[in-house]
Amino acid sequence: MAARLLDGTAVANQIRAESAPAVAAFTARAGRPPGLAIVLVGDDPASAIYVRGKLKSAGEAGLRADLERLPSTTSLDELMVLVDRLNRSDAHDGILVQSPLPAAMGPEAERRVFDAIDPAKDVDGLNPINVGRLVQNRATLASCTPSGIIELLVRSGIRVAGAHAVIIGRSDIVGKPMALLLLHKHATVTVCHSRTVDLPRVASEADVLVSAIGRAGFVAPAFVKPGATVVDVGTTHVSDRATIDRLFPVGSKRREVFERKGSLVVGDVHPDVADVAGALTPVPGGVGPLTIAMLLKNTVTAALQRAGWAG
Ligand code: NAP
Repeated sequence: MAARLLDGTAVANQIRAESAPAVAAFTARAGRPPGLAIVLVGDDPASAIYVRGKLKSAGEAGLRADLERLPSTTSLDELMVLVDRLNRSDAHDGILVQSPLPAAMGPEAERRVFDAIDPAKDVDGLNPINVGRLVQNRATLASCTPSGIIELLVRSGIRVAGAHAVIIGRSDIVGKPMALLLLHKHATVTVCHSRTVDLPRVASEADVLVSAIGRAGFVAPAFVKPGATVVDVGTTHVSDRATIDRLFPVGSKRREVFERKGSLVVGDVHPDVADVAGALTPVPGGVGPLTIAMLLKNTVTAALQRAGWAG
């Protein structure tokens, strides 16, 4: 393997450690810890795992972390009532509504919910006010996953200014804010999506390649310029053997995990990319822990800002 592994877990631990004094100081001064409310609607198993991780980390960091769990039969109006209550709560500085919402809520449900979250408590950076501030490079609460990736790149000494960054995926939660954050760090940015013509060629021009599409092993070695930095955001739960056969050789560690558990979380990036890239984030242990660390950091920022104590 040629590529240097970018250790998201280590950087996430650093970010958490740096937030600890602010958590302690806020708690002493306010007489309560910074508070985070996570809303989980329905029974999506992957969402339940992510939410558990976020609650555990928040609790360990000294935050108040409350789970508001609603059944999949919840109506959009009922969810809006909950968001309104959390907007008014003095104990909660951050509100995160876990995506995806159940399809039965309708195609506009997520947008309507994000519109309704108080921008001062919008720790996922999805309210249009915060998105607008991000466009203008004055965001204080930006989407957690792309913010965490910027922290990883900067702290790992990866050159971003002047680099050509290519992002595969244009979602509101990852691809678009990633493009803006890289632009603000002075990268030249290209965004690819499902209609991009000759995507492998465009990707292979990247100095920094970020893939966020959710297709196991999609980014093949031919997509990658030798020595490029590759960030793998994708997390696909794979349980079919054909995909595992395509990606992991017999005897590999990841394959052993699959044999033991019957499923595997797999990134967008094919493992053979490690032979071409200069630096690479692993899945798991790359972007995932950073997303959680930035959620905690954003909650502390929201608490300080709401109290008028931000620097
Ligand atoms: P999303 O909303 O489904 O968006 C997927 C994007 O990928 C879309 O822009 C889509 O293009 C593009 N796309 C899909 N297939 C493509 C293809 N064959 N070629 C080119 N582009 C393609 O997904 P998301 O919420 O951004 O999440 C993406 C992945 O990241 C998922 O696996 C998700 O689980 C993971 N994720 C991980 C973390 C973490 O903390 N590790 C956080 C968030 C997300 P169009 O717009 O043209 O349809």
